[in-house]
Amino acid sequence: MKKTKSKRKSKSETRKVQDLLWQECRRIIKAKYIKDDRYYCFTCGKEIEGSNCQLGHFIPNSVGGASLRYNLDNLRLQCYYCNINLGGNGSEFYRKLVIEKGQPYVDALFELKNKGSINALDHYKKLLEEYKII
Ligand SMILES: [Zn+2]
Repeated sequence: MKKTKSKRKSKSETRKVQDLLWQECRRIIKAKYIKDDRYYCFTCGKEIEGSNCQLGHFIPNSVGGASLRYNLDNLRLQCYYCNINLGGNGSEFYRKLVIEKGQPYVDALFELKNKGSINALDHYKKLLEEYKII
Protein backbone atom coordinates (compact mmCIF):
# COMPACT_ATOMS: atom_id res chain seq x y z
CA MET A 1 0.00 0.00 0.00
CA LYS A 2 2.77 2.37 0.97
CA LYS A 3 4.64 1.45 -2.19
CA THR A 4 1.65 2.20 -4.44
CA LYS A 5 1.17 5.56 -2.80
CA SER A 6 4.76 6.72 -3.26
CA LYS A 7 4.78 5.41 -6.81
CA ARG A 8 1.70 7.40 -7.67
CA LYS A 9 3.13 10.48 -6.06
CA SER A 10 6.41 10.30 -7.99
CA LYS A 11 4.52 9.72 -11.23
CA SER A 12 2.45 12.85 -10.82
CA GLU A 13 5.56 14.84 -10.02
CA THR A 14 7.20 13.57 -13.19
CA ARG A 15 4.07 14.49 -15.12
CA LYS A 16 4.13 17.99 -13.68
CA VAL A 17 7.79 18.54 -14.54
CA GLN A 18 7.17 17.13 -18.03
CA ASP A 19 4.29 19.54 -18.63
CA LEU A 20 6.41 22.51 -17.57
CA LEU A 21 9.32 21.30 -19.65
CA TRP A 22 7.13 20.92 -22.71
CA GLN A 23 5.86 24.49 -22.28
CA GLU A 24 9.45 25.74 -22.14
CA CYS A 25 10.33 23.73 -25.25
CA ARG A 26 7.39 25.24 -27.14
CA ARG A 27 8.35 28.74 -26.07
CA ILE A 28 12.02 28.34 -26.99
CA ILE A 29 11.45 26.62 -30.35
CA LYS A 30 8.73 29.08 -31.37
CA ALA A 31 10.97 32.03 -30.52
CA LYS A 32 13.85 30.44 -32.41
CA TYR A 33 12.01 29.63 -35.62
CA ILE A 34 9.64 32.57 -35.96
CA LYS A 35 10.05 34.34 -39.31
CA ASP A 36 8.49 37.77 -39.82
CA ASP A 37 5.97 37.07 -37.06
CA ARG A 38 4.94 33.80 -38.71
CA TYR A 39 5.51 30.12 -38.04
CA TYR A 40 6.16 27.50 -40.69
CA CYS A 41 6.03 23.72 -40.67
CA PHE A 42 9.60 22.40 -40.71
CA THR A 43 8.77 19.45 -42.96
CA CYS A 44 6.19 20.74 -45.50
CA GLY A 45 6.96 24.45 -45.25
CA LYS A 46 3.35 25.59 -44.90
CA GLU A 47 2.48 28.48 -42.67
CA ILE A 48 0.98 27.31 -39.38
CA GLU A 49 -0.94 29.06 -36.63
CA GLY A 50 -2.97 28.38 -33.52
CA SER A 51 -3.48 24.75 -32.56
CA ASN A 52 -2.13 23.72 -35.97
CA CYS A 53 1.26 24.93 -34.77
CA GLN A 54 2.73 21.90 -33.06
CA LEU A 55 6.06 20.82 -31.71
CA GLY A 56 7.26 17.71 -33.51
CA HIS A 57 10.00 15.23 -32.72
CA PHE A 58 12.56 14.15 -35.30
CA ILE A 59 13.30 10.96 -33.39
CA PRO A 60 9.93 10.02 -31.84
CA ASN A 61 9.42 9.46 -28.12
CA SER A 62 8.76 5.77 -28.70
CA VAL A 63 12.38 5.21 -29.71
CA GLY A 64 14.08 8.35 -28.45
CA GLY A 65 13.67 7.85 -24.72
CA ALA A 66 14.22 10.46 -22.03
CA SER A 67 17.34 11.98 -23.56
CA LEU A 68 15.58 13.08 -26.75
CA ARG A 69 12.05 13.80 -25.60
CA TYR A 70 12.84 17.39 -24.61
CA ASN A 71 16.07 17.81 -26.53
CA LEU A 72 15.76 21.11 -28.44
CA ASP A 73 17.93 19.76 -31.27
CA ASN A 74 15.32 17.05 -31.80
CA LEU A 75 12.35 19.44 -31.91
CA ARG A 76 10.93 21.65 -34.64
CA LEU A 77 7.61 23.29 -35.41
CA GLN A 78 5.26 21.16 -37.45
CA CYS A 79 1.72 21.35 -38.77
CA TYR A 80 -0.88 18.91 -37.45
CA TYR A 81 -0.87 16.99 -40.71
CA CYS A 82 2.89 16.30 -40.68
CA ASN A 83 3.12 15.70 -36.94
CA ILE A 84 0.02 13.57 -36.42
CA ASN A 85 -1.28 12.29 -39.76
CA LEU A 86 2.18 11.54 -41.15
CA GLY A 87 3.54 10.47 -37.75
CA GLY A 88 6.22 13.16 -37.79
CA ASN A 89 6.99 12.91 -41.53
CA GLY A 90 10.30 11.29 -40.61
CA SER A 91 11.98 11.00 -44.02
CA GLU A 92 11.35 14.66 -44.84
CA PHE A 93 12.37 15.65 -41.30
CA TYR A 94 15.65 13.81 -41.84
CA ARG A 95 16.27 15.43 -45.22
CA LYS A 96 15.56 18.97 -43.98
CA LEU A 97 17.59 18.51 -40.81
CA VAL A 98 20.65 17.43 -42.80
CA ILE A 99 20.22 20.49 -45.04
CA GLU A 100 19.81 22.81 -42.04
CA LYS A 101 22.44 21.41 -39.68
CA GLY A 102 24.55 18.85 -41.52
CA GLN A 103 24.99 15.11 -41.19
CA PRO A 104 27.12 15.11 -37.98
CA TYR A 105 24.32 16.94 -36.11
CA VAL A 106 21.80 14.30 -37.19
CA ASP A 107 24.19 11.45 -36.36
CA ALA A 108 24.74 12.93 -32.90
CA LEU A 109 20.99 12.83 -32.28
CA PHE A 110 20.80 9.17 -33.30
CA GLU A 111 23.57 8.41 -30.83
CA LEU A 112 21.40 9.73 -28.00
CA LYS A 113 18.67 7.23 -28.78
CA ASN A 114 17.42 5.47 -25.67
CA LYS A 115 20.09 6.95 -23.47
CA GLY A 116 19.35 8.66 -20.19
CA SER A 117 16.12 6.85 -19.47
CA ILE A 118 17.36 6.04 -15.98
CA ASN A 119 16.45 8.75 -13.45
CA ALA A 120 14.35 10.53 -16.05
CA LEU A 121 12.82 12.83 -13.44
CA ASP A 122 16.24 14.15 -12.39
CA HIS A 123 17.13 14.62 -16.04
CA TYR A 124 13.87 16.51 -16.68
CA LYS A 125 14.34 18.73 -13.62
CA LYS A 126 17.84 19.66 -14.74
CA LEU A 127 16.61 20.52 -18.23
CA LEU A 128 13.78 22.61 -16.83
CA GLU A 129 16.24 24.73 -14.86
CA GLU A 130 18.37 25.18 -18.00
CA TYR A 131 15.46 26.03 -20.28
CA LYS A 132 13.84 28.54 -17.94
CA ILE A 133 16.72 30.95 -18.45
CA ILE A 134 16.95 30.63 -22.27
ZN1 LIG B 1 3.59 20.18 -42.40
